[in-house]
Amino acid sequence: MDFNDTAEEAAYRSQVRSWLTANAPRKSGRVDSGLEDPASMEEAKAWQRKKAEAGYACVTWPKEWGGGGGASWQSVIFGQEEARHETPGNPFQIGLGMCVPTVMTVGNDADKERFVRPAVRGDEIWCQLFSEPSGGSDVAAARTRAVRDGDDWVINGQKVWTSGAHYSDFGLLLARTDPDVPKHKGMTMFWINMKDAAVEVRPIHQMSGASNFNEVYFTDLRIKDSQRVGGVGEGWRVSLVTLMNERLAIGGGAGGGHRTIFKLAQEISTLAGPAAKDAGLREKIADWFVQAEGLKYTRYRTLTALSRGQVPGPESSIGKVVSAALMQDMANTALELEDQFGIISDPDLAPLAASFQTALLAAPGMRIAGGTDEILRNIIAERVLGLPQDVRLDKDVAFKDIPTGR
Ligand SMILES: Cc1cc2nc3c(=O)[nH]c(=O)nc-3n(C[C@H](O)[C@H](O)[C@H](O)COP(=O)(O)OP(=O)(O)OC[C@H]3O[C@@H](n4cnc5c(N)ncnc54)[C@H](O)[C@@H]3O)c2cc1C
Repeated sequence: MDFNDTAEEAAYRSQVRSWLTANAPRKSGRVDSGLEDPASMEEAKAWQRKKAEAGYACVTWPKEWGGGGGASWQSVIFGQEEARHETPGNPFQIGLGMCVPTVMTVGNDADKERFVRPAVRGDEIWCQLFSEPSGGSDVAAARTRAVRDGDDWVINGQKVWTSGAHYSDFGLLLARTDPDVPKHKGMTMFWINMKDAAVEVRPIHQMSGASNFNEVYFTDLRIKDSQRVGGVGEGWRVSLVTLMNERLAIGGGAGGGHRTIFKLAQEISTLAGPAAKDAGLREKIADWFVQAEGLKYTRYRTLTALSRGQVPGPESSIGKVVSAALMQDMANTALELEDQFGIISDPDLAPLAASFQTALLAAPGMRIAGGTDEILRNIIAERVLGLPQDVRLDKDVAFKDIPTGR
């Protein structure tokens, strides 16, 4: 495979580079990973709008819906070039990466007309309301109940770990509509207005100090049947559309931290000399380098599939499984190297602007969000390696008859 740009790709890259140099803003102010500060949110919205006006937001989406009407390779090149700039936070990832593509694939024409354009422009933000206290890995365990009442549905229940619910305008909600059939057959997908008084969002305080995700409660939330996304009882099939987009959106995972750690180790002296001379550390860095290279070429495989118009297969799960554990391992080692300075989390005082402190606190979440390590390993085992399936005892049992432990 030739990894160099073709003439067409090089021309597009140069066009994108010039545009970004002229237009990309720098992230200003303090790092605010929860986007709780209104100024950070405004910066993020302004950048999204600017990209949309130039056709660089949702590069591959049709122009009539506000996208760029471009090819997948153009989207990849834009992403690579944008990553070279320090642009504002991205509260649109869940909406544009998962929820709105689901509405575009399964939703009715009125919903597409109403929602796609404002989401591309960054005027409206979406969240994904799937996980519940009763199960996140097992999405089909959802207990939030939607009961039909004439032309309405009435919703009661609770979601959890909902990223960005506190600033979202709309949510994609998976609810149980028929408990009398097996779990995968009795669910339905809806969109809801997050600002409705019957929706209560309670922030979850994380160890990093931010509150990126929330508990969300529904108490007699009344919505129209026209807010249904897909058929009654087809929620599982619709959720697979969302989850497939989710794995693609967060499956990448970059390498490169090993180079920063090597530099850090060159600057740090131990009793036995420079840390970079330590054989154990050198072996670790070599190991990370090998993993980062493996990730890079696995990502190229995904890009090749995209450039051929194919949908990347379950092998994209490898990217997240490896990169999340890699990030955690590197952050742990970096903080050990930083010694007493490792406990400083203020970016103005800590070495390397506290980037490894932030990485260490985010890494456990990375190993859970969008499929835990164990679930992704199951997928790789069953769907990439063709090993026998996990035992599934609740497959043909009515949802209401599945033991709950209560
Ligand atoms: C940072 C972050 C952001 C998130 N954002 C969202 C969001 O916006 N919207 C949303 O809906 N959800 C979100 N989630 C929730 C996330 O999808 C779930 O946490 C995840 O799917 C795991 O579900 P759970 O927490 O219920 O754990 P469980 O499913 O209860 O799993 C508990 C443990 O059991 C293991 N396990 C479970 N089933 C199996 C199995 N079959 N085989 C082997 N091991 C198994 C798991 O690997 C895990 O170690 C987010 C989570 C995080 C960390």
